Amino acid sequence: MKQDNITEEIVNFLKDRGWDNPSPGALAKSISIESSELLELFQWSDDSFMNLKENPEKLENLKDEIGDIIIYCIQITGLLGISYQDIVRTKLKKVKKKYPAKQMKNRDKKSIGGSDDLYLKIKKEERESKY
Ligand SMILES: [Mg+2]
Repeated sequence: MKQDNITEEIVNFLKDRGWDNPSPGALAKSISIESSELLELFQWSDDSFMNLKENPEKLENLKDEIGDIIIYCIQITGLLGISYQDIVRTKLKKVKKKYPAKQMKNRDKKSIGGSDDLYLKIKKEERESKY
């Protein structure tokens, strides 16, 4: 796999510190932990994007947690020898097929989150088909 500049920068950063040999499980746990740190920033608030953009301190904290998550995600894909760009493109293809844009955009707005919600129906059918 040819590495892009960001992946290469992350790989070098980790190598320089001897942090370049984690287990896949350690990285998966780290992604979850950092995601929780991101979520913690919203523990007692439900800020809008506008509020966040107007709060430099909170925005900086958000950027830090998002950066942590992205770095771990790029690290795990790099160690698996998979391009994160390919993963994103493949995933988008799957989601486009599963949730056709026209159907999603035109669904009854009143049903969103309710028992008639098409999105939830598709998700539930897929989960039931797996088990
Ligand atoms: Mg963090």
